[in-house]
Amino acid sequence: MRLNDIRISPHFKLREFQCGCCGTVKLRPELIAMLEALRALWGRPISLTSGYRCEQHNRAVGGASRSLHMAGRAADISARPDEQKPLRLYAFDAGFTEVICGEEKNYIHVGFN
Ligand SMILES: [Zn+2]
Ligand SMILES: [Zn+2]
Repeated sequence: MRLNDIRISPHFKLREFQCGCCGTVKLRPELIAMLEALRALWGRPISLTSGYRCEQHNRAVGGASRSLHMAGRAADISARPDEQKPLRLYAFDAGFTEVICGEEKNYIHVGFN
């Protein structure tokens, strides 16, 4: 079995949240709860492109200097441009307070303070 191949909620595995460079993972439990809420509202699978980021990886991918990814409080969700508006609304309903569409990159960023 692969490292972090552990189901942590009905629809997510720990592995999906680990840092893209070093495999470290730090998560606020609320993040999982909100993602499950968002998944329920959206009614379709949610695929993460980024979860926790260590400082070094955050810098490497051009993340904000105080990115919520480094606090286990944010995730990026794969989404086509036409899916981003509805997902954005559901994200606020699910409790996220920081929602940013990344249309050229086919994802939306969801986070909370
Ligand atoms: Zn890392
Ligand atoms: Zn993000």
